Amino acid sequence: MATIFPSSHPLVAHKLSLLRYKDTEPKKFRELIREISALLAYEATSDLDLYKVNIHTPLNTATGLMLSEKIGLVPILRAGLGMVEGLWNLMPTAEVWHIGLYRDETTLKPVSYYNKLPIEPTVSVCLILDPMLATGGSAVAAVDILKRWGVRKIKFVGILAAPQGIENLQNHHPDIPIHLAGIDETLNDRGYILPGLGDAGDRQFGTG
Ligand code: URA
Repeated sequence: MATIFPSSHPLVAHKLSLLRYKDTEPKKFRELIREISALLAYEATSDLDLYKVNIHTPLNTATGLMLSEKIGLVPILRAGLGMVEGLWNLMPTAEVWHIGLYRDETTLKPVSYYNKLPIEPTVSVCLILDPMLATGGSAVAAVDILKRWGVRKIKFVGILAAPQGIENLQNHHPDIPIHLAGIDETLNDRGYILPGLGDAGDRQFGTG
C-alpha cells in the first residue's frame, strides 16, 4: 500500500514555488502555508468515514452523509502552528493538540517539552502538521506519542520532505500515510532541506 502522497495539484505546485522564493515576506509566507495546508488536507481526508443521515430540506427529504470520525489536528511546535488555520477552516470542529519537540544537541534525539494530551484519546484520527519533514526525528516522535495515546488512525501532513526524513518515518512507522506538497533532493549538514525554503518557523514568524 502506498504511504507517500506527494500532491500533483497544480495549485499546490504553484504555491510551493512562491513559498520557496527567498524574498517572499512573512505575511505572504503564512498565507501560502495556510493555503497549501488546506489543499493537502483535502487530499489527506479523502478516506474519512461517513454515516448516513436523513435530512429535511425546505422541499423534501434527502439522504445525506456526515463525518463519523472525530478529527485531531496535531501541530508540532512551532512551525506546524501556521498550518492549523488552513485545516481548521475546513473542519472547524477539529480539536487541536499541540506537541512541542526539540532536538537534544548531545544525543541528537527529539525531546518532548510540551504535551497536554489527556490520558484517554478524545479523537479517532490525528493529522500531524509539520511543514518540514527533514531528518524525520520529530515526526517519528510525534507518531510514537499519538500511538501511545491510543489513536488508531494517524496521518502526517507536511509541505516539503527530504528523502532521509521520509525513509526514517517509513522505517519506524510504515503504516502512516505521508501527505506532501513536494519532495526535495537532500539535507545539508545542518539538517536543512535542499533546495528547500529555509527555516519554516523563522520565515512564518519573521524571526530569521
Ligand atoms: N526545518 C526547517 O524549518 N527547514 C528545513 O529545511 C529543515 C527543518
